[in-house]
Parts: sequence; structure tokens; C-alpha cells
Amino acid sequence: MENRPKKRIFIGLLVVTCLILFFLIFLFWYIPMVGLKTIHPSLPLLFTILLAIVVLVMFSGGLLLIFTILSGKETFLSHRLRGVVAKVLFPFMILMGRLMGVSKVKVQQSFIELNNHLVRSNSHRTRPSRLLVLLPHCIQDFDCQIKITGNIRNCKGCGKCEIKDLIEISDQYQVKIAVATGGTLARRIIVENRPEAIVGVACELDLTTGIQDSYPIPVIGILNERPYGPCINTKADIQKVKQAILDFLGPDPQKP
Ligand code: SF4
Repeated sequence: MENRPKKRIFIGLLVVTCLILFFLIFLFWYIPMVGLKTIHPSLPLLFTILLAIVVLVMFSGGLLLIFTILSGKETFLSHRLRGVVAKVLFPFMILMGRLMGVSKVKVQQSFIELNNHLVRSNSHRTRPSRLLVLLPHCIQDFDCQIKITGNIRNCKGCGKCEIKDLIEISDQYQVKIAVATGGTLARRIIVENRPEAIVGVACELDLTTGIQDSYPIPVIGILNERPYGPCINTKADIQKVKQAILDFLGPDPQKP
């Protein structure tokens, strides 16, 4: 229930975008009709058929996306839809959101929820050794002197921050876990570990960029909590991380 309003923002912007695009396509069809007729009498018909195919593909894609979101079921093209949403629709939605007074953060949150929904409806399953939990550096206690970016296992497990709990979860399910200070290091970790799936914890900006950059690798994104403001002593919802791991490993993962 909690996620529905967020996904609705994306769907709403998508519907408005489609209506505007259909109107623009109509203008694009209507205006050159007269000129085309003077070149060759059959050109207007060919042009109409071409645009009709474009509209049909757009309309079917939009309907399929909305059906996948509402039903929560895997559809035959839902894997591709995730790519279209990440690479094509999301930048449009940011632009539409700006025009319609919806903040960038809200559109980003909506995109993350929608992406998670599509990943879950795809029922991606992976082995524990190919699942990577990727964390932001700001989860580490600000005063902790231990360097965990190169190796998270350097953590002494004092419990002052959630790094301890997250390492315990990764041990419990035998999945990989790493900390990144930014996009460049995150990309390097992904290249080195070659995961089949990723559970990412980060802020809106890093998650949306990470989901886009990682495609086609499926990512379930979990927004961090920021009780002290951005980038310092942030928190991760441990239950959500666990659930995301189980979504990739299946309901009955092999225990150590
Ligand atoms: S749990 Fe680990 S990373 Fe966090 S403060 Fe303690 S030693 Fe440092």
C-alpha cells in the first residue's frame, strides 16, 4: 500500500506524456499531407501507415507497462520494459515532472518503486554467490576510523552503525557485500564482482543513476534513511534489505 502513490506519479506523468506525444504526432501527420500529395499521390497513405505503426507500438507499450504495474505479473516483454523505463521514459518523466510541478525527488522515488516492481514481477532468481549487496559509505558511523571501502570485512562489528547488521545478513545468506563511496567505485565493484543481481542501498540520485547504469543487471533499490541529513550516519531498513535478498534468492534459500 505504501508504495502505490509513488508509482502513480510515474503512471500519471506517463499518461500525460503519451497524450501530448499523440497530439504532436497528429500535427506531424496533418501538416505535411498536402506537400506529400504533390510529390506522389500514394505518399500520404504510406506516411499515415508509418505513423499509425509508431502510435500502435507506443500505445501497446504504455498499456503493457500499466498492466504489468497493476497486475504485478510477469509479461512477455517485461524485461525489455524495464530497460525502456530506465533508459527512455525516466529522463522524459523528469522533464514532464518539472513542467507539471512534480519535484525531481518525487519522480526519482517513483522510478525506483516502479523499477523494483518490474524486477520483482520478472521473478529474477540468482545464486547467492552472484548476488551483490551494494551500500553507500555514509552508512558507516561518521567517527569510525576503520577503512571499509576496500574491504567491508575490516569492520570490527562494534554495532555503532548498521554495517555490522548488514555483514551478518550477507553471511547468513552467503551473498557478496561491498561499500562504495560513489558511482565510479560502484561501477568498479560491479565489474569486478560480475553480479547477476544487485540489492542497492543509496539516496534517490545514486539509486536512479545506479539502476540506469547497471541495466540489464536487475537492481532492487532501497532508499536510505537520513535522520541527520544527507550523507552522514544514514540508515538502511534491514528488513527491506533482507526481503530484497529473498526476492532474488527465492523464498527458501540455501542456508549455511
Ligand atoms: S559497526 Fe563497523 S563500521 Fe560501524 S562503527 Fe562499528 S566498526 Fe565501524
